[in-house]
Amino acid sequence: MMTPMIAKIAWLLMAGGWYGLRIPHERRSKKTPVAFNALDRREKTRLIVSLTGLGLIPLVYIATGFPRALGRPFVPELAWLGIGVAAAALVMFHLTHEALGRNWSVSLQMRENHKLISHGVYARIRHPMYTAFWLWGLAQALLLPNWLAGFSGLIGFGTLYFLRVGPEEEMMIARFGQEYRDYMARTGRILPKLG
Ligand code: SAH
Repeated sequence: MMTPMIAKIAWLLMAGGWYGLRIPHERRSKKTPVAFNALDRREKTRLIVSLTGLGLIPLVYIATGFPRALGRPFVPELAWLGIGVAAAALVMFHLTHEALGRNWSVSLQMRENHKLISHGVYARIRHPMYTAFWLWGLAQALLLPNWLAGFSGLIGFGTLYFLRVGPEEEMMIARFGQEYRDYMARTGRILPKLG
């Protein structure tokens, strides 16, 4: 039986699972020196907007029910679908972290001896970690029966995505040149380029 309570717990498990996956990578990548850092004010703002939509607003909603006026009817079938999408997001996170290894960072940075990763989930998708966050946003919209708390993830992460993906690719071209251009030609941004 699917209830709003179970759907909220599923959201919390998704967030907890993501955190559990990320901590070891955060520790490992902190040991790898940074060669180039683009953590400027714009990047910080993007990260805060995304974190607010994917984390803070749903947490406040789950804890307090705020904003009650924006509640929507609970649809069990959508919540079940949300659990599936949340599971897919976590699998994707795991695979991207595994492939990126020490090259990962939370913001736009290039590490010393940065390697262009183009294997595993990166073989056909350039930004599979962003795919995972889109899936998180979608799962949140399906799980939480509230117009604000449900859709804040897609809006918050969408803001980060559209403002960041261009500059990120420019940074990669600045570092890897033709190698990244060739990689762009055979990959899609968040969905696999087929054929
Ligand atoms: N946009 C990627 C990575 C997100 S983490 C994704 O969605 O999967 C952000 C950092 O990853 C960037 O600062 C950049 O240094 C690094 N990065 C992005 N794509 C990479 C790639 N193909 N190989 C190595 N590092 C990459």
